[in-house]
Amino acid sequence: KPEAARGETRSTCCYCGTGCGLIIEHAAGRITGVRGDPDHPANFGRLCTKGATLHLTSGTAGRALYPELRTSRDAPRVRTDWDTALDTAAGRFADIIREHGPDAVAFYISGQLLTEDYYVFNKLARALVGTNNIDSNSRLCMSSAVAGYKNTLGADGVPASYEDLALADHLLIAGSNTAWAHPVVFRRIEDARRANPDLTVTVVDPRRTETAEFADLHLQIAPGTDLLLYNAMLHVLVWEDLLDRDFIREHTDGFDALRAELVEYSPGNVAAACGVDAADIIEAARRFGRAGAALSMWCQGLNQSHHGVANNAALIHLHLATGHIGRPGAGPFSLTGQPNAMGGREVGALASILPAHRDPRSAEDRAEMARLWGVESIPEAPGLAAVGLFDAILEGKVKAVYIACTNPAQSLPDLTRVRDALEKAEFVVLQEAYADTETAEFADLLLPASGWGEKSGTVTNSERRVTRVRPAIAPPGEARPDWAITADFARRLATRLGKPESSFDFADEAAVFAEHVSLTRGRDCDMSGLSHAVLEAQGPLQWPFPAGAVTGTPRLFTDGVFPTADGRARFAKVGFPTRHAPLPEPVTARRPFILTTGRLRDQWHGMSRSGKVAQLWGHTPRAEIAVNPVDLVRRGLDAGQLVRVIGERGEIVLPLATDEGVAPGQAWIPMHWGAATLAHAGANVLTSKAVDPVSQQPALKQAAVSILPA
Ligand code: SF4
Repeated sequence: KPEAARGETRSTCCYCGTGCGLIIEHAAGRITGVRGDPDHPANFGRLCTKGATLHLTSGTAGRALYPELRTSRDAPRVRTDWDTALDTAAGRFADIIREHGPDAVAFYISGQLLTEDYYVFNKLARALVGTNNIDSNSRLCMSSAVAGYKNTLGADGVPASYEDLALADHLLIAGSNTAWAHPVVFRRIEDARRANPDLTVTVVDPRRTETAEFADLHLQIAPGTDLLLYNAMLHVLVWEDLLDRDFIREHTDGFDALRAELVEYSPGNVAAACGVDAADIIEAARRFGRAGAALSMWCQGLNQSHHGVANNAALIHLHLATGHIGRPGAGPFSLTGQPNAMGGREVGALASILPAHRDPRSAEDRAEMARLWGVESIPEAPGLAAVGLFDAILEGKVKAVYIACTNPAQSLPDLTRVRDALEKAEFVVLQEAYADTETAEFADLLLPASGWGEKSGTVTNSERRVTRVRPAIAPPGEARPDWAITADFARRLATRLGKPESSFDFADEAAVFAEHVSLTRGRDCDMSGLSHAVLEAQGPLQWPFPAGAVTGTPRLFTDGVFPTADGRARFAKVGFPTRHAPLPEPVTARRPFILTTGRLRDQWHGMSRSGKVAQLWGHTPRAEIAVNPVDLVRRGLDAGQLVRVIGERGEIVLPLATDEGVAPGQAWIPMHWGAATLAHAGANVLTSKAVDPVSQQPALKQAAVSILPA
């Protein structure tokens, strides 16, 4: 329960996956300040601009305060009570399930939910409704990394920790502007270089970002050529015999088959396509191969690609080939975008995973989950991943959607289509802390949820560290915790479907967590030794943390044993796509610019929270499209003028800016604006719904556009 009087409450930042601990200062039911938690191992007291201004987002501006319901699409939503709201939702869902089957409904949730929230949603979808149609906005963020880990290391486990930054002597940062998107991680990188001037840093990014400026080698590759680059680096490692042959022989399979494919990936062969010098590729490979301990960090540049899984696998291959894994300072380390995408992956709240990294395609895993949840079966039909889910709504196959803590009308690609889908849906439930998001305009039922500073539960950050999230104040109006709303809905739905409602009778969020961790026993992510009480007593802890453990696990695979059937890691699983494929939307004479999208330093995702802080607008006050100055001259355009940015799916109007960090022939737009925030300014009006064939993650990083005077 939140503390009523003046006080301080330890919790976490609700923005990025760095997972910084913070102390919330509050008085008389209001949040008055925030500062970094000096004892939290993710940040040791540091916060970035976003975290340090979180207290300024507290208050009722833009908040959803009461349940609101509309009885027809032409009518406005009006305030209602919780019983009417949840009974209406349960009734509509039950009717649709009875008439059209369980796959006619879907749940689309969020990496910003707490683990307990996530858990209840997943159990609702799979065990009660009987559908795998539950996906998360983590699909847009980390699903290629999940599949990349699973297909090489055997399970979705980030092998390294932040402490490895101080122990590495080479750092490869790929597709991540860490300085802006994970600023506190970047401070630790700066610390590491100060402590060890011999630390070498290679950055791979199509844009010369602040992170790239920090590197001593920047490979400014052409968008979509990551796979060529990492295969070429592996080619060099083979050619120059920089391999750890003992590690390959004793702990991996598949190297010989992959090596045969590498012949065509010489630096000379790929340099032109990558847009970098062959000598730089060779240098990058040598630094990696010759390092005593090499750590790689990556984010959306690799993941949001038409072959994002292969990008991930190719980077992980470099570690397996050189033995840079399972040792201090070494390992592949994907940076989680959202604060609790990792918790959602543990809980299994993505269409493609079941709790504790089980696989919905496995009959054995489904049977085990059915037994653990006490239901007859877990559905076999594959669930719809984000892009496909909204396609199915548009096609009328999914008739009702329950959206929680996310803003698909801003964040999904090909936004016009997504908005059409939400118009077409028979019933849209939105469970949200904010009533002013782009998605809210489509909601038939708005359920007000607690937000940052008001919630209790847990999150897991990029380094597998589970931290208690504690409430400092009560939520405003009639807002309630997400897990409690969902459990209430589930009980009402169970009654209507003639199923027992008792499996959603959780006493509190600690009981939800206890049930969640009980399902992890014996799994790669075993956290059966964790509980809210243990986290209260010991502070944040890294999994695995099996029953009886006394400390967390900073590093995975230290014994060279991987969570595969034979304990060996894999190079390029048979049938796994390892080959480079051209961009799904190549430039043409009509669309001559490659558009890439990215993040600003001081904004977060759709800005529903960060956009309310005046100070955070000082860094970048408006959306712009940035091109190289050379292109201004070539196209006869002027900096500052309004331009039409025209793609295959729509167009937006933006001021034109120049940035020498953007390569000639490319353009860059920040991804934070949505179509309703600033008329027609959203980058996702332009992005394509092309997805990676394995992970179904959309290739949000690339589209072909033309730029014309407005
Ligand atoms: Fe929050 Fe991320 Fe900034 Fe830390 S680095 S304060 S988690 S936004």
